Amino acid sequence: MKINSPGLSVCSKCHEPKLPHRVCPNCNYYDGREIVASEA
Ligand SMILES: [Zn+2]
Repeated sequence: MKINSPGLSVCSKCHEPKLPHRVCPNCNYYDGREIVASEA
């Protein structure tokens, strides 16, 4: 996957591109922690 979109961050765990300040949709990690999001 190319990473060329401005404003995109890269997950420090799985290295997938993700929105900055957002939980990684791929591995659910953010800032080195796994976030368990409650999804309705
Ligand atoms: Zn990730």
